[in-house]
Amino acid sequence: MKCKFCDNNAVIELRAYNLKLCDEHFISFIENRVEKTIRKYKLFNREEKILIGISGGKDSLNTAYILNKLQYNVEGIYIDLGIGEYSERSKGKVLNFSEKTGIKIHIYNIKEDFGMGITEIARILHRKPCSVCGVIKRYILNRFAYEHGFSVIATGHNLDDEVATLFSNVLSWQEGYLARQNILLPQRDEKLVKKAKPLALISERESAAYALLRGIDYIKEECPNAHGATSKFYKHILNQIEERAPSTKLRFYLEFIRRGRRFFEQDTKEGETQLKPCEVCGFPTTRKVCQYCTIKKEIQKRRG
Ligand SMILES: [Zn+2]
Ligand SMILES: [Zn+2]
Repeated sequence: MKCKFCDNNAVIELRAYNLKLCDEHFISFIENRVEKTIRKYKLFNREEKILIGISGGKDSLNTAYILNKLQYNVEGIYIDLGIGEYSERSKGKVLNFSEKTGIKIHIYNIKEDFGMGITEIARILHRKPCSVCGVIKRYILNRFAYEHGFSVIATGHNLDDEVATLFSNVLSWQEGYLARQNILLPQRDEKLVKKAKPLALISERESAAYALLRGIDYIKEECPNAHGATSKFYKHILNQIEERAPSTKLRFYLEFIRRGRRFFEQDTKEGETQLKPCEVCGFPTTRKVCQYCTIKKEIQKRRG
């Protein structure tokens, strides 16, 4: 099997694009695709300070690596969630990556805010770890970006993540979520930094192959708290469809962005809940006190 663009042997076949590529041409294919996504969806430019939320997994490390390679102005933040050995190992990968690439990565430990890790917080509050974790990560990313002068937060969401979310939102017609799902989430408030997903058109498999060929060492096991997540089941089904009909995932997602999304956006615009400053921390929320401050207060109360 020969590469489509040169005489070298192909190392990967991309059925969605009907392409067989050698390692060099695959690497440039991915990097070009990310650059095109950034331009087409006007995610950010080279003057902006970009903060990347880094977990130690392949997608966030690839995001940092590719944006840095494309000469964007990037720094990362690793949020230590205190999930035992899993957090220790992922932090190790992140520090290693930072040292190898020279990309600056801030370390933020949630124990400084709560005196404990996510698993304990969730147990005390009788909530699912993933929902508490999502709230806390989003809040810290935004506050850190805002306070340190970053104009955009980039996350490592890949095509499979996006398609699984879209699929789930369509199955239950979650109009509000559908209206907000996009490659770029613009700034809605002075203290709410815009968010971008530069890897939104790169599949999970392409991302894994890219990390492998670039020698990026990432944490392969998933978070122990995410075990049995519905999104995994949806990804599995979508891959079966993709197997039968290559490029379905890409088409489903892109046609939603191009044509479907706006209908939900129009419908929800009038009813969109107004953001106001949280009475405790001053960051925008739809409630009186934001979810982060509510969790923090609750934890302090229980600890006495
Ligand atoms: Zn080639
Ligand atoms: Zn607050």
